[in-house]
Amino acid sequence: MNGIHIFHRNRLGASCPKQYVLSAVIILAGIIVASHSACATDAASSGKTVFVRVGIPCNGQVTLGSGTAGELLQIGEDLKLDHAQFCVGEDGEIACVGPDGACKDLHAPILVHLAKEVEEAGGQEAALIWLDNAKAVYKGSFELSVDSKGGLSLVNIVALEDYVAGVVPYEIGASSPYEALRAQAVVARTEALGGLGRHSSQGFDLCATTHCQVYKGAGAELANPMVRQAVDSTSGEVIFYGDVPAKAANYHACCGGFTESPGDLWGTDVPYMHTVRCNGEIDACGDGVYMSEEDVRNWIETPDPKDYCYGSNGYRWSVVYSQEALAEILQPVIGRGACVESLEVAARTPRGAAVRLVIHTSSGDFEVSGEYAIRSALGGTQSVKSGVFVVNAYGDAPAKFELVGAGYGHGVGMCQYGARAMAKQGYDYKAILEKYYPGATVGAFRP
Ligand SMILES: [Zn+2]
Ligand SMILES: [Zn+2]
Repeated sequence: MNGIHIFHRNRLGASCPKQYVLSAVIILAGIIVASHSACATDAASSGKTVFVRVGIPCNGQVTLGSGTAGELLQIGEDLKLDHAQFCVGEDGEIACVGPDGACKDLHAPILVHLAKEVEEAGGQEAALIWLDNAKAVYKGSFELSVDSKGGLSLVNIVALEDYVAGVVPYEIGASSPYEALRAQAVVARTEALGGLGRHSSQGFDLCATTHCQVYKGAGAELANPMVRQAVDSTSGEVIFYGDVPAKAANYHACCGGFTESPGDLWGTDVPYMHTVRCNGEIDACGDGVYMSEEDVRNWIETPDPKDYCYGSNGYRWSVVYSQEALAEILQPVIGRGACVESLEVAARTPRGAAVRLVIHTSSGDFEVSGEYAIRSALGGTQSVKSGVFVVNAYGDAPAKFELVGAGYGHGVGMCQYGARAMAKQGYDYKAILEKYYPGATVGAFRP
């Protein structure tokens, strides 16, 4: 998905489930009264816990079990079981099959939580529920319901800080340096609060995939104590611009040397996310970067060891296609039987990301617009790692095409490889965040 909607997603539709309209109202009210100078402990000491509803992908059937020794799951109001399998029955009710094979129809929505509240004690003793296998453990509770297409919908209702701890290790890697983990925690929290209600029509706030943020529960957090430490030490902290919490704090794997402006890429300007040089020069670009076609090639062909993300996965990349392979990949756009004569990047952002591609073929010209759409059309966003690329063609017809590029991801906001390098060089998380969100600061939001 393109990130366009990232900046339009704090809207709450009138059809939101009451429960989370309420929670969102509480949060928004908190944001309005938030004091920029408030310290992080205010949020914690206020005693109010913000809960996030996270949509967990499931394929029509799910097994939930108690991940805490000696405790049973409380399933709905009446059932207590060690574990149970759930699916939607033909009658539209949720069928629950217990360990003894007995099946019971339950009326959705069903809340599943631990039968007895378990005291949090250093994370390990916290109330845990496993999902499909004993190692995939989650904090909080689960809600099972039937979605609009009659399928099973699974929502993890989890405290904000536990949600953040379930995002950080999957988004930047649990083994990242401590200050990079802390920077990621602040960014993940900012994105979570800014994104509440994004999936309101589906009955949850945020999905658990790259569309929102990758969230896989408490497994990695429990295996890597530094993750929890990074989350706790920044508890309640988010990016602020001026006196208000930021609605978005985008991030990406590797910028390749220059970060991207969301205004140029997606059409929505964000004052604290313009192009910056990913090295020790303090905001060397400002808003003034402009890359000609020649500049883009020069950037890609001249790696700079001073760049924080230099040498990382995706800093520079290339992908090669034969004529036949490229024609096959582009078939949804150009149809069958056409010969690709050339690929022309017809428009770029000032930072150099392709936003309009013209494919010249033996059957005529075809156009693809948008950075993400272009990467997808050319073979997928994993292989065409960014929109910053140039095209080399070899042989007659031509026989071979090569895309050579810089960076991995959309390039907007924090460069995660850059953040890791800055942390290794001794910068703290605030310095990292101020680098990639120029003009923004870090403050505590109060629920
Ligand atoms: Zn999402
Ligand atoms: Zn970078």
